[in-house]
Amino acid sequence: MQAWNKIRRMPAAEIRKMQDDLVYKMVNEELAVRHPYYRALFKEANINPAEIKGVSDLSKLPFTEKKDLLPPEGEPLHPKKFVLETPEESEDKGKKKGFALFGKKEAETECSDYRFQALYFTAGRTEKPIPVEYTHYDLDNVREAGLRTFDILGLTRDDTLINAFTFAPNVYFWQMFYSTIGIGSTALQTGGGKVLGMEKILKALDSMEAPVLVAAPGYVRFALQTLDHFGFSAANLERVVIGIDYAPMEAVEKLRKLMKSVGAKNDLVQRIYFISEAKSGWAECEPDFGYHTNPDHILVEIVDPESGVLLGEGEKGEVVITHLDTRGTVLMRYKTGDIATGGLTTEPCPNCKRTVPRIMGDIERKSLVYDLKGRDGAFQFNGNHLRKKMFTREDVLLWYVELNRSGSEDNLKIVVKGTSGADEAVLLKTLEQELQAEYKVPVTVESSTLDAVADKIGMEKQITEQTIFDNRNS
Ligand SMILES: [Zn+2]
Repeated sequence: MQAWNKIRRMPAAEIRKMQDDLVYKMVNEELAVRHPYYRALFKEANINPAEIKGVSDLSKLPFTEKKDLLPPEGEPLHPKKFVLETPEESEDKGKKKGFALFGKKEAETECSDYRFQALYFTAGRTEKPIPVEYTHYDLDNVREAGLRTFDILGLTRDDTLINAFTFAPNVYFWQMFYSTIGIGSTALQTGGGKVLGMEKILKALDSMEAPVLVAAPGYVRFALQTLDHFGFSAANLERVVIGIDYAPMEAVEKLRKLMKSVGAKNDLVQRIYFISEAKSGWAECEPDFGYHTNPDHILVEIVDPESGVLLGEGEKGEVVITHLDTRGTVLMRYKTGDIATGGLTTEPCPNCKRTVPRIMGDIERKSLVYDLKGRDGAFQFNGNHLRKKMFTREDVLLWYVELNRSGSEDNLKIVVKGTSGADEAVLLKTLEQELQAEYKVPVTVESSTLDAVADKIGMEKQITEQTIFDNRNS
């Protein structure tokens, strides 16, 4: 990656030209030479890498999908095919050109840039987790991407921070870790609910007088709602940074309201959008201004999720990423399965004036849209929208939904734990009526205990809670 003070102000046309150069170099100097999967693919599909001269030629390449990375039965090492081979020392010596154009990397290919150093995994909510290899080159980039998010969020070394992202081999926790180390801020790396637990995290927030809490949205919601129960104060809390999980604007508003209700000093809520396969996360300067991407690291395209056709500025579609400056695992035109409802814009940000491309709107997961069979035919159930609805309800503390099949018809069973003070009988009745009117399959709503619901959704156990369970094929 290059100097941020240059990239963040670079005009769109210059960004495109830089990306053209990076695409050409990645395809010709890396993938065609030492990437087992793409080298073979170019051969099989009769693609001449020299013809991939820039961004607009990428459409000549097929998409890479999650299923391409998952190891087939009996081939556990399959994901290795997506990892750049380490150049031979002799090649290293013979090669004295390369990145000189870009200033930061001096002249030659460093063998050590390619040596495997860390393995992080995708979250694997709906599929098996995919291993993504990082070299020290990539870890430097994680740190740089993290520092850029802090710049965009407006965080400085004076902001004491509680990192409550779950400790795990994933980029979410580690980018946050590297950015706090990089900027030199006081931070408690709690490891999240799984490691330290809610009570200790809230205690730390209180006793360290930390103004910043970083966690998944559902975890922040639960934390603010249980603060009173544990008897801690959030009087010094000024901002919450959410990431990892679905975080529509409605969730931002809900958290702002909760911050006010617990007497926080301020009610700033900001978002980071992480893509494990992009080896980084991107921040928003203010909610709804879009995720500010790193055009010298990852190219973002928005395509029609069905036809794969490239979409224009601001059009809703699937986020597709291409690595421009990575080592270890490298992906081209990778379909993330995430839908950006506001597409991509290359206009400068009206709020902070940075010129990097921004991903707009909500990020919905394709995998949370289910085809259900109702009495009157097929019906599409968008789990993203149910999650949004449940997140914003005042009377629901925790919940989950089961998709079940009885005979040839599907039905939804929703299990809730109400907030303290909520009339549970009223909650069950109104929720059932509301959802039944919306969904064309039978809906039942039941209540359960806090422990049972928290346990089922993995609160304090998983990276983020799982609220949708499709039982129809099990
Ligand atoms: Zn901005």
